Amino acid sequence: MKTSAEWKALSESVTLLGQAFIAGRFQGAVAGETFPAINPATEEKLTDVASCDAADVDLAVSAAREAFVSGVWSDLAPGDRKRILLRLADLVEKHGDELAVLDSLDMGKPISEMVGIDVPDSIDCLRWTAESVDKLYGEIAPTGNDTLGLISHEPAGVVAAITPWNYPLMMATWKIAPALAAGNSVILKPSEKSALSVLRLAELAKEAGIPDGVFNVLPGFGHTAGKALALHNDVNVLAFTGSSRVGGLLMEYAGQSNLKRVWIEAGGKSPMLVFEDCEDIQKAASTAAAAIFSNQGEVCIACSRLYVQSSIRERFMGALLEAAKAYQPRDPLDPDTRMGALVDKAQLETVARYIQLAIDEGGQVLTGGVPEAVPGQGYFVEPTIIGDAHNGMRFVQEEIFGPVLAMGEFSDEAEAIQLANDNRYGLGASVWTGNLSRAHRVSRKIQSGMVWVNGWGGGDSTMPFGGVKASGYGRDKSLHALEKYTDLKTVWISL
Ligand code: NAD
Repeated sequence: MKTSAEWKALSESVTLLGQAFIAGRFQGAVAGETFPAINPATEEKLTDVASCDAADVDLAVSAAREAFVSGVWSDLAPGDRKRILLRLADLVEKHGDELAVLDSLDMGKPISEMVGIDVPDSIDCLRWTAESVDKLYGEIAPTGNDTLGLISHEPAGVVAAITPWNYPLMMATWKIAPALAAGNSVILKPSEKSALSVLRLAELAKEAGIPDGVFNVLPGFGHTAGKALALHNDVNVLAFTGSSRVGGLLMEYAGQSNLKRVWIEAGGKSPMLVFEDCEDIQKAASTAAAAIFSNQGEVCIACSRLYVQSSIRERFMGALLEAAKAYQPRDPLDPDTRMGALVDKAQLETVARYIQLAIDEGGQVLTGGVPEAVPGQGYFVEPTIIGDAHNGMRFVQEEIFGPVLAMGEFSDEAEAIQLANDNRYGLGASVWTGNLSRAHRVSRKIQSGMVWVNGWGGGDSTMPFGGVKASGYGRDKSLHALEKYTDLKTVWISL
């Protein structure tokens, strides 16, 4: 791991690409508009980024369609696509530190998280998905002897991916790896708050040998570039990760246009349940802190609702308050930093508003609560824990997307499950118990796409990632992700 000074030096020398990447080349937005990329840790401008709109979307969709129809990628044998995607994974690995610095500068994430999580996970997702595509077979249906029924998966065509800012490189990779591996052409619209790393990814994709037009990146705002993509009649699949509100809009846009398939992976308000038979309270407490304070709480699976069995509440709280001390917000480029800056001023204000709301609703600030840790110098917030929280409070029900933990309690298993499920979201849940039967019982009853027992956030490329209820229904990673980007084709042959 580099030192603070080395990361700083790299941050000063790294190339900041700001133009759209369409048909294999970088270009400004047709209208010439740009927006500034701001470093949230310093409030300084990093560079200007092309602000694409409907005209750029038309160009990118045409380029993607043309590439798809030409077969330059879609007709390649899966093994050939695999080799090129593996080259891309190698290039991401080679330039991993550069990509790490770009996201850290752009959205305030600690560099240690980029190096420990985002970059290796992105490489693994590319490799695992690429490796899988030449090992998948079609089916022959059990029809009669006078027919042959073939069932195969075909690439869907033009895929648009709209991604959030909290894991810019990783969220993009989770979409583009399976979409490209399946043979589609892809247009990625990153969040306007963090577009820099994926523009560099586009350059690496070209270097790896992905043909022009097959992978395009359109930076721009949601209501312009994003909406135009979602309404476009020549986009076949729209894969989205972001808020539930915008996910709902995208479903409407699909209905208003060509009924494109829309995959929604949305917000969360995940519960953590700590039972009195938990075998390692220290570990549960330090994980509870990590589950809300890592990446500044800007994590879709953040366990922002903590429910501890009443009998161990005091003991647990002591350990949790101790663990929270490790997350004092600091310079994201310092490798020892465990909590960086919030993505922008608007997010800082949202978090401050929710902290005030929690207090107004009767919550007790156990630690933190100071909305702006260093006024005028970056968007830093203290790790905040609010006690006496109950499900009737708005701040317990709504996604804050910041380092604010609501701590409540329960008396028995039935109540724990009821409290966990009493929320519109259903992304993840963490359960701490030493009782195997209870672990299974509770996991079954919890309404969420993912459950972690005696841990939080675990998973690798072999496991699907996604939620239920207002957290959406799409799944990233694993072979299930490939299904999102393919159509089932049947051929009935009369013999
Ligand atoms: P957001 O919904 O505001 O934006 C997500 C993306 O949608 C951005 O690229 C944005 O430009 C675009 N967008 C916004 N309005 C649009 C519109 N009208 N039409 C088309 N596109 C539009 O979300 P965000 O603030 O970037 O990200 C935070 C959210 O993402 C949180 O709710 C978080 O829980 C969620 N998230 C979910 C997962 C998951 O896997 N389920 C992972 C990461 C983040």
